[in-house]
Amino acid sequence: MAPMRVAIGGISHESSTFATVPTTLVDFERRHYAEGDKLLTTFADTRTGIGGFLAAAAEADFTVVPTLFAAAMPGGPVTAEATRALVDRLTAGLRVAQAEGPLAGVLLDLHGAMVSELDDDGESFILRAVRAVVGADLPVLVELDLHGNVTPEMIDLATVTMAYDEYPHTDPYERGHELGLLLARIVREGVRPTTALVRIPLLAGLQRQYTHAEPMLGVKRLAHELEAEPGVLAVSYLPGFAWADIPPTGFSVIATTDGDPAQARQIADRLARFVWERRGEFVVRPLPVEEAVRLAMAAPAGPIVLADIGDNPGGGTPADGTVLLDALLRLGATRAALAPLNDPEAASPAQASGEGSRLTLRLGGKTDRFHGQPLTVSGRVVRVTDGRFVHTGPMSTGVVIDLGPTAVLALEGWAGGEVEVVVTTHRYQPTDLGIFRTQGIEPTDRQILAVKSSVHYRAAFTPIAKQIIEVDTPGLTSPHLDGLEFRHLTRPIYPFDPDMTWHP
Ligand SMILES: [Zn+2]
Repeated sequence: MAPMRVAIGGISHESSTFATVPTTLVDFERRHYAEGDKLLTTFADTRTGIGGFLAAAAEADFTVVPTLFAAAMPGGPVTAEATRALVDRLTAGLRVAQAEGPLAGVLLDLHGAMVSELDDDGESFILRAVRAVVGADLPVLVELDLHGNVTPEMIDLATVTMAYDEYPHTDPYERGHELGLLLARIVREGVRPTTALVRIPLLAGLQRQYTHAEPMLGVKRLAHELEAEPGVLAVSYLPGFAWADIPPTGFSVIATTDGDPAQARQIADRLARFVWERRGEFVVRPLPVEEAVRLAMAAPAGPIVLADIGDNPGGGTPADGTVLLDALLRLGATRAALAPLNDPEAASPAQASGEGSRLTLRLGGKTDRFHGQPLTVSGRVVRVTDGRFVHTGPMSTGVVIDLGPTAVLALEGWAGGEVEVVVTTHRYQPTDLGIFRTQGIEPTDRQILAVKSSVHYRAAFTPIAKQIIEVDTPGLTSPHLDGLEFRHLTRPIYPFDPDMTWHP
């Protein structure tokens, strides 16, 4: 008997409806993009969702039919043109696959928080197009990021929906692998997934979504306990992505059982109640900027990690915020390094003037009005690189990163001191020590490491950090959600409506 054929692909984007720059086709094509067989060579042996699908397919003796995988850096909503082009390419791949013979199933790596100009619910838009090609009955298993804002339509369109368990996202590979093996049980053993979704009216601060501390650690533990009950196939918890001003935004839990909808419902309700009882713990309380910098400078030993949580490009910000850099230069910090500062207009002259040269330029704060002013700074060009490196740490291991032309500037502090800044041409969230090491900065030798990230930096930086401080910088990932103008959220929702009552 010929091996069963399984199509693999995905389109992944986390969209901030508050970000001012829309996400275009080029943003996908130059970030993570692979069509056809290129998907196999790009993702084999990577710790990604697609990498997990491929490993499970090999174990289950499936023949893989690669279609398209495309992911862009989080940013503004995906343009209509990009949405149509990507969905057309994905479904064209599925049509070709079907023309060559029957498919046993489809494994899709999506996000869950993609907002398209064509549809607030980008994943359902993708899944409707997929169903139009493969029909209503073919198993279509979907992996989501834990930041997905899940809708009932997504759940109805997918056969199984499973999210990452960890934030930082160290387990996309494991969840992809788990889904691939579950597909084998569906097509060979007659497992019949049935799913319950409960949406909780809660906007969870990103910093409190960290899955290695409370309150999320307890949520994770209970989910794993429930997942171990007989008949349960998968339990997921998605605290969601609050910077999407759309009705479905919030916390969701998903339970999938083998043919028992009442059991799925009961498990989802129980987990949802557990989350709701802890809603007050999802509020973030970061340290004011100057207080954080002074604390880091005074610490007896480094590195002290300062998390610039207001300007996390992983949440769609420009990564050119200057508020933390301004404080470091003003207060005289030294042996301090900051990454990244995304500013192509500054990276380019630094590249041109070359290593060892001195220059004065306007740096950062150029994209919008939310992330501080451009700073006039002077210093030396310490290093110029092409900005390409491979992740070797616990997140996205094996994935190639392209920062574009990159320069390390050693900037003179205005009250003495010196701050090294990694100035990039493309946005990047610092989730790997390679962001410093490949630019000639040994992070363990520095007193202060400032990183533009909400939580993901913790996977790589916790092992070397003497202390981690969440800094209250302004920006489009600031935890002060009340500073944003929400118009389309479903109300009431906690913490905006603190006295509300709710039960699943
Ligand atoms: Zn995420």
